[in-house]
Amino acid sequence: MEQRFKSLSLFEFMKRYPDNESCLSHLAKLKWSNGYTCPKCQHKKSCAGASPLSKQCTRCRYVESPTAGTLFHKVKFDLQKAFCIMYFVSTNKKGISSTELARKLELGQKTCWKFKMKVMKAMKSSGNYPITGTAEVDETVFGQQEKGVRGRKNVNKKLVVISIEKKGNGVSRLYARVIPHADAASLGGFMKDHIAPSAKITTDQWTGYRPLVKDFENLVQIPSGSKGGNFPEMHRAIMMVKGWLRGMHHHVNYLQDYLNEYCYRFNRSYLKEGIFDNLLLRMVNSPPCFVKNFSD
Ligand SMILES: [Zn+2]
Repeated sequence: MEQRFKSLSLFEFMKRYPDNESCLSHLAKLKWSNGYTCPKCQHKKSCAGASPLSKQCTRCRYVESPTAGTLFHKVKFDLQKAFCIMYFVSTNKKGISSTELARKLELGQKTCWKFKMKVMKAMKSSGNYPITGTAEVDETVFGQQEKGVRGRKNVNKKLVVISIEKKGNGVSRLYARVIPHADAASLGGFMKDHIAPSAKITTDQWTGYRPLVKDFENLVQIPSGSKGGNFPEMHRAIMMVKGWLRGMHHHVNYLQDYLNEYCYRFNRSYLKEGIFDNLLLRMVNSPPCFVKNFSD
């Protein structure tokens, strides 16, 4: 087997994080890797706090745990199990459902679902690495038209704009965003976050893209061809995401979070062994998120 395509094995993972203490100590190391600063008074000196591996500010006496202020904030089950959820979500090729996580980890399904939602928040694209080469952009509808609800607002359908980066014969990166309308404002906002102004972009002839040539000088519009025949890679990419969503979630609630999860894994498939560490670092560097703030 070729070493460089090796992913982090479950065995290696368990060796690294054999118990809750090793997980907590790893979090502490990541959290204070650039030294300590009190979040309340910005003081730089601390002593050990009462709870394990916590730090107490020597000026204002504020005590901070390694999980405070991160996406692990107030996690109410074993930290090692939280690490396991991240391991499965990041290393399973197609991700993993909360039902299956619950079975594997002897936790409640709801508990797994809530924590997985937090993991998905950490998977949101930073927008720091826009596509600079060859890109295609298209929009598509997710979800089904429900029978008997014609004429009413259909909450089971969502409009999504997708961008792919083409390399060789394949797709090297993928971004997706739920948008309210296929207008220049929504399409352009997404494109500015994920595609460099100089990139070579192809779209179909939809009028929403037309005003965007002023921001993207190399944007060209071509007919989509019968059944999207002029955009075969884009067509396949859309089919893949839709197929995954159908198999995994059966609905379009929290669609943006699921798209983030899909794109995160897709765009980092080259990382293999490093993908768990990347996700862990993001979890530590992301602010806490509470269930009441989950939006669909
Ligand atoms: Zn302080």
